[in-house]
Parts: sequence; structure tokens; C-alpha cells
Amino acid sequence: MALGGNALIRKGEAGTIEEQFRNLKVPVKQIARLSDEYRVIITHGNGPQVGNLLLQQENCSLVPPLPLEILVAQTQGEIGYMVESTLDSELMLLGTDTQKHLVSLISYVVVNENDPAFQNPSKPIGPVYTAERAATLPYPTVRTPKGYRRVVASPQPITIVEKREIKRLIDMDFIVVCCGGGGIPVIREGRTFCGVDAVIDKDLASAVLAREVGVDIFLIATDVEGAALYYGGPEERFLRKLTVHEAAEYEKEGHFPAGSMGPKVEAAARFVKAGGKRAVITSIETIEAAVAGKAGTEIIFD
Ligand code: ADP
Ligand code: MG
Repeated sequence: MALGGNALIRKGEAGTIEEQFRNLKVPVKQIARLSDEYRVIITHGNGPQVGNLLLQQENCSLVPPLPLEILVAQTQGEIGYMVESTLDSELMLLGTDTQKHLVSLISYVVVNENDPAFQNPSKPIGPVYTAERAATLPYPTVRTPKGYRRVVASPQPITIVEKREIKRLIDMDFIVVCCGGGGIPVIREGRTFCGVDAVIDKDLASAVLAREVGVDIFLIATDVEGAALYYGGPEERFLRKLTVHEAAEYEKEGHFPAGSMGPKVEAAARFVKAGGKRAVITSIETIEAAVAGKAGTEIIFD
């Protein structure tokens, strides 16, 4: 289950810790109930959280700034703690807390150092700047509709370093929180791994994990009921079923933009193409209904 940013901070909110814990109850209550019948792996985004850390360190010259890989690791700990403690409370309310074991895992994801994304950084992250301020920053920025933002590479995830550990934990009936923020991007240097300044799309990383662990259902939960055609327009139509072929066509026609619905549809399609049974994109409110086949957009390999 890949949880979108809105599981913690909803549009228009400041993102106080109270708001984040309150929002998190919506998906986590459902996950607690589902864990009765399913073994669950939870992955999550970290966009606003990592953005806040970048903003904090830009406004403090008393300590040395940390590279992005460290900030991603920090958000894995932060959000892992929030998910785990919320889940623990919800399991306690259901009376099943004593049978369930939870664990959050710091996760590395291998990327290729020759990935073309490194030559062409495309992912805007962190705070918005004026053009004048952007020109003084020590890293590349990109103009977005809101203003200038730092831009980093978003390379393809190749493999989840901890896949065997995650599989073993799942086999032992643990609920696992992992691959936060798409994972800490690393490249292999001989036998060691080396962190890089990049971010991996959390939906694409989750698809790799889903395939490597061999899950039955890959669920992507976000702030809309599924994938739509003509999204946001008068002819908007949410799809209940979407074949891999249709997805490729609609994607070409521009229905699923990069950076939002595009990677979700792509991640779901990659999973079913690789032999995965079910992939569904749904809203955070309707996770249980989507698992039951009664909500969301199901991506089908044709
Ligand atoms: P998350 O934090 O869950 O990854 P994103 O903001 O990245 O969420 O992606 C979800 C957003 O994608 C929705 O809020 C919606 O505004 C946008 N979106 C763009 N195109 C579509 C589409 N064709 N169908 C549904 N949502 C779309
Ligand atoms: Mg997203």
C-alpha cells in the first residue's frame, strides 16, 4: 500500500503535527482492519516533510547543511514513527495489538549512475523562491507555476536493497513500513552503496518492491478516487478499469501528467505487466472498498 502525501498533510493545511496525526487515522484505521485478513506493507511519500527540512536548514547557518539522502532518511524515521504509533493505537482499539508486530525500516533503493535523469534533473522539491533568491542558491532551480524551486534528478528505481529482509518480516507476520519517500537513492560502488542527491518517485519504487516481494495486491492511495480522463475539466470521467494498452494511449494524449497521476498509472502498469495480480489506484478514504473491488481504478494487463 503506497500512501500519498495527503495521508499526512491535506491541501490547504499548514501541516502541524496534530493535523498530520489526525489525517493519518483515516488510512490507518482501514489498514488496521485489513491486517486481520492481509499481510500489509506500507510505503509512503515525503514531499512536504522533506521540503520543510530543506527550508529549516536554509534558514539556519549554525550547523552544516545535510545532503538530500540524509534528509530522506530523516523523513523515513519521522513518518515511520507516525505511521507505527497511529497503527499501534488503532490495533489496540480493535483489540488485535497483541497479535500484530510492527516495524519501520530505513530503506535504500538502487539507481543506475548512468540513468539519463542525472543529466536532466526534472523533479522540483522544497520551498518556492523568487527569481533573485533562486540565482544565489548553490544548486539548480526550475521555474514552476508557483515560483522557482530546487530541481533534482528522479532516476528509475532498480531494486530495493532490503527486499529479502522485508519478505522475511512479512512471512513472520510483521506489518512493515518501508521505502519512505521512494527510498534513499544509492548507487553501487563495488560492494558498497553510496547515497546520491536525487529523489525516487515513491509510486515507482513501491511497484518495484511489490514485484520483488511478490504481493497479491498493489494499492496506491491518494487524494482522488482514481485515474480520470479529462481530469479537472467539464468532461472529467473517473475510470473503474484501465488496461495497460489504454493507459499507454491516454498517457500519450496527456491525461496522466508526470509528477502526479502519470507515475501512479505507470507504476500500476509495470506491476501487472511483470505478472502482478491486482493493481488499484484509489482514494485514501476508500482503501478497504478498493481492496474489495468496489472503488478505485483497477489496472488490467491485456
Ligand atoms: P500523491 O501525494 O498521492 O502522490 P499527487 O499529487 O502526486 O499525490 O497525485 C495525485 C493528484 O493527481 C490528484 O490530486 C490530481 O490533482 C492529479 N491528477 C492529475 N491528472 C489526473 C487524472 N487524470 N486523474 C486523477 N487525478 C489526476
Ligand atoms: Mg505524487
